[in-house]
Amino acid sequence: MTFNAFHPPIRTLMGPGPSDVPPRILEALGRPTIGHLDPTFVELMDEVKALLQYAMQTENALTMPISAPGSAGMEACFVNLVEPGDKVIVCQNGVFGGRMKENVERCGGEAVMVHDAWGTAVDPQKLEDALIANPDAKVVAFVHAETSTGAESDAKTLVELAHKHDCLTIVDAVTSLAGSPLKVDEWQIDALYSGTQKCLSCVPGIAPVSFSERAQHRISNRTHKVQSWFLDMNLIMGYWGSGARRAYHHTAPVNAMYALHESLLMLHEEGLENAWARHRRNHEALKAGLDAMGIRFIVDEAHRLPQLNAIAIPEGVDDAAVRTRLLQEHHLEIGAGLGDLAGKVWRIGLMGYSSRIENITRCLAALDGVLADLGAPVEHGVALPAAEKVLAAA
Ligand SMILES: *Cc1c(COP(=O)(O)O)cnc(C)c1O
Repeated sequence: MTFNAFHPPIRTLMGPGPSDVPPRILEALGRPTIGHLDPTFVELMDEVKALLQYAMQTENALTMPISAPGSAGMEACFVNLVEPGDKVIVCQNGVFGGRMKENVERCGGEAVMVHDAWGTAVDPQKLEDALIANPDAKVVAFVHAETSTGAESDAKTLVELAHKHDCLTIVDAVTSLAGSPLKVDEWQIDALYSGTQKCLSCVPGIAPVSFSERAQHRISNRTHKVQSWFLDMNLIMGYWGSGARRAYHHTAPVNAMYALHESLLMLHEEGLENAWARHRRNHEALKAGLDAMGIRFIVDEAHRLPQLNAIAIPEGVDDAAVRTRLLQEHHLEIGAGLGDLAGKVWRIGLMGYSSRIENITRCLAALDGVLADLGAPVEHGVALPAAEKVLAAA
């Protein structure tokens, strides 16, 4: 067996994440490694924290990146806020709500499930009914932006309902952060986790999290020790918390932090509202192109995520064959359906740096060409002019 250096192909990433990482962030990643307790690294950490607070619109002191992917951010929220015997209401309208249930149960809690159809938003009325039926519930958890279906839920209203019934809230903002409006303080979210590889367009493997004072109080006053040593916020606070001594907890992924810092800097330079508006505008252009082709979105217009476009695969078209051709011939990655939607939808991501005009035209042109060649029942030659019209008007 011979081994060679790995040189990945150059792809355009328009799936559910990771998104395209801009050269500027890759360049930051390659800067010289320094010690994780080096005073200059500590300064970088302080800036990362401040920039994350900006991105999340929060003043929460306990705002930091967990050194592991989004799923570890999810786990960090659950292991810290759920104690054995706690009742947690989990709203599920896609894949990720199912993982929340797993987390609750592995913490020794009891998950009360509130189900909504995949492709729809979480129904606040169903949550309220569950809160009334379960007055002993302690936490409400839901996914703000369901990447598996492309549906956005009304986080502000769901959090308000949870608080009215004395529950803390855990919100999955992996795909919403930096892509669509997310206001942690204004909406009074108690615990939030995200990821770096979606609308921040940073390398995968880091999970920004934030905890409100109420959540922090709950964590500091637990009766049982957090069952995960690595994710115990009581210990991590000594490293990342305000006025912390920066005591050794684990070796931070130093270079990945350079990358995260650079991505947050880019977001700050663009301006959060401008980033939200860019995601919205580019979604409108992609949508105009898909509409013109006669391709249908599976989510109601009112609840569609601009950064994740879930569309029905046209009648008679081979899902895998199309995605393989897009990847092999066009170096373009789009996402397959997950769970209940496997084989039924494609998921086109316009996240972060992937949300660019050239990606939209490339995707529409490639899709049009491949579908035409396969004789798919869609309109051809109309997608690009329709998208262009929207872009020209913007
Ligand atoms: C991607 C994603 C996750 C998981 O993030 P990983 O970095 O893959 O662990 C969780 N929730 C949502 C909504 C996601 O889109």
